[in-house]
Amino acid sequence: MNTTIKRIGVLTSGGDAPGMNAAVRAVVRSASYFNVECIAIYQGYQGLIDDKTKVMNARSVNNIINKGGTILKSARCLEFRTKEGRKQAFETIKKHEIDGLVVIGGDGSFTGAMIFQSEFKIPVIGIPGTIDNDIFGTSHTIGYDTALNTVIDAIDKIRDTAISHNRLFFVEVMGRDAGHIALNAGIGAGAEEVLIPEENLGLERLLESLQRSKKSGKSSSIVVIAEGDKSGKNVFQIAEHIEKNLPYYEVRVSVLGHMQRGGSPSCFDRVLASRMGVFAVESLLNGSSNVMVGLDNGEMILTPLEKAIKTKSEINKNLIRVSDILSV
Ligand code: ADP
Repeated sequence: MNTTIKRIGVLTSGGDAPGMNAAVRAVVRSASYFNVECIAIYQGYQGLIDDKTKVMNARSVNNIINKGGTILKSARCLEFRTKEGRKQAFETIKKHEIDGLVVIGGDGSFTGAMIFQSEFKIPVIGIPGTIDNDIFGTSHTIGYDTALNTVIDAIDKIRDTAISHNRLFFVEVMGRDAGHIALNAGIGAGAEEVLIPEENLGLERLLESLQRSKKSGKSSSIVVIAEGDKSGKNVFQIAEHIEKNLPYYEVRVSVLGHMQRGGSPSCFDRVLASRMGVFAVESLLNGSSNVMVGLDNGEMILTPLEKAIKTKSEINKNLIRVSDILSV
């Protein structure tokens, strides 16, 4: 272990995700295990600028592993995008003699961390926390599995009412730039079609598919649409187009929205967050910096922050085929 690190800071930043608390707990407890002091920074980079900090010990994180959101709060901080803001943030780092920083967040937070590291040479390590699963260097981000479970739970309920009224439901899920949630939850919830940002499946194809399934005896259907669908149309415009062309369907729209971010983390996310928190502290103490922890084939790995930010995380194209085959 690198003994030069005596005190680490931890913060959560950007969009919140279920399991962030489990990650905070793991960071704080690992620090305690390795006899390193841990300072929590509240409200992400804003708290670093405003010196909103608290010394943590192993008991400070009791009973949070099961809690959604983040007890450290999160924030979008414009000031941190300026050199002046980051200078101010570094004053807090100096004041508390923090010599390593763990940032739990998404690619925006990692971009900030990387710039901060290059300007002030403070070692930083990232833990990917976002429901979108859109970060290169890890097969799963913290919160993604919980969000998937929340979405399929909601769609199961929508299915009950869709069947009872012979309705066609368009369900919008989160994913402005990435279709991971739409594609996986779509398959998991048995959706007829899935529209995602990565592929333009075309509205005509959707029409044909719905016509075909109507002919084959389906009386209700569910179509899952990611917020950023490639067609460029939003869920209401798509629903209107279909309703005009398929008058025999009674069409309804459901936008799941922010509920997808909330809730108690799944067991998968708790275990993932725990492993990532431990590995992040161990890696920091071993001298790693400017890297993100990730899960790869069941193992913990490190990826340079720059690569994690700049490389696009790909969706699994095989899943599109699976979805197609199963909507026969
Ligand atoms: P996420 O981490 O979920 O992608 P954001 O994109 O909102 O969320 O980023 C979180 C925070 O990271 C921002 O509010 C800002 O403080 C910081 N950040 C993002 N991009 C930069 C940047 N280019 N320079 C400095 N800080 C940044």
